[in-house]
Amino acid sequence: MCKKVWLSSPHMGGAEQSFIKEAFETNWVAPLGPNVNGFESDIQEYLQDDNKYVATLISGTAALHLGLKLLGVTQGDEVLCQSMTFAASANPITYLGASPIFIDSERRTWNICAEQLEIAIKDRLAKGKKPKAIVTVHLYGMPYEIDEVHKIARQYGIPILEDSAEALGSSYKGFKCGTFGDMSILSFNGNKIITTSGGGALIAPSKELKDKAVFLATQAKDNEPHYQHSEIGFNYRMSNIVAGIGRGQMQVLDAHVNNRRNNYTFYKQHLSEFSEIKFLEEPVGSFSNRWLTCIETSSFDLREKIRLALADNNIESRPLWKPMHSQPVFKNAIAYVNGVSDALFERGLCLPSGSNLEQDDLDRVVSIIKKVLK
Ligand SMILES: *Cc1c(COP(=O)(O)O)cnc(C)c1O
Repeated sequence: MCKKVWLSSPHMGGAEQSFIKEAFETNWVAPLGPNVNGFESDIQEYLQDDNKYVATLISGTAALHLGLKLLGVTQGDEVLCQSMTFAASANPITYLGASPIFIDSERRTWNICAEQLEIAIKDRLAKGKKPKAIVTVHLYGMPYEIDEVHKIARQYGIPILEDSAEALGSSYKGFKCGTFGDMSILSFNGNKIITTSGGGALIAPSKELKDKAVFLATQAKDNEPHYQHSEIGFNYRMSNIVAGIGRGQMQVLDAHVNNRRNNYTFYKQHLSEFSEIKFLEEPVGSFSNRWLTCIETSSFDLREKIRLALADNNIESRPLWKPMHSQPVFKNAIAYVNGVSDALFERGLCLPSGSNLEQDDLDRVVSIIKKVLK
């Protein structure tokens, strides 16, 4: 069997182990410590926004949970959420006893559709319930239509939780993704553009909110010599060992973005002669980290032919995210749909996109797809 090619696998830069070694040598194995502070300030600096404060946590999902909580989401609330996404964007809404209401995508970026969003808000208001928050996502690293979506959110006074789990390194009109929301989150899960083996971050608009997030993430201990609690807390804080991996990864983040963008360019160069395959273009003003290169094929059958031909050759690919409004677990959720995300799910495919792919791997993927198409 020929070499396995993964969709997106961890890619260490080299400096990670020295940060971990330092943590061992100084016995900063737990709790918190210099790597956590260092990783947080590395991210803060990278985001180039002096008004953002970063709290590193055990996962992007934990960050979404705390972000929603800090936006005031509670039992019985409704939260609007981009339907085409990974389930982790929506699950934390239910952890708080609130209900997700799903919003379909537009065709230009595959993300939340501003028109559908406004239709949904008006309809919820007419039914007597104002949505408590909006969860937006930069899917596959492509910034959503931020101006249009945020204009509507502002108009109706609804805060945005920006799920930037896939978009560290992307930007919109010169500003980094992860700085647009009233709260924003990042993920450092194993398949993301940088990884700490598992981890995430909440990005807050003030020092007070960051401190509140850290307080909740460390069991909500009151400032007393004994253990005293006035609120329900969580055990969500990132460890000093894990943060050491993150510090090493921050040194290679821009190189990873470059590699992933080159994957996209290569695929596009070699496959765009085929009318059956379409690529997602960057709108003017958007810069995508191209976390995953995705294609939209002309039919479900063709998509499956390509996927299975790749699998036969030990190459991992995957259909696009199945929209949340079509997931069995959310079958009773309200949704505002226009057909875009269902069509993308039916015909779309994510191609191997790791920053550590070799030219050989990319050549193999392209030649197998060409064989299917010819
Ligand atoms: C990966 C991902 C998450 C969850 O992050 P974890 O760190 O794996 O918990 C949330 N939203 C999106 C869009 C993701 O891709």
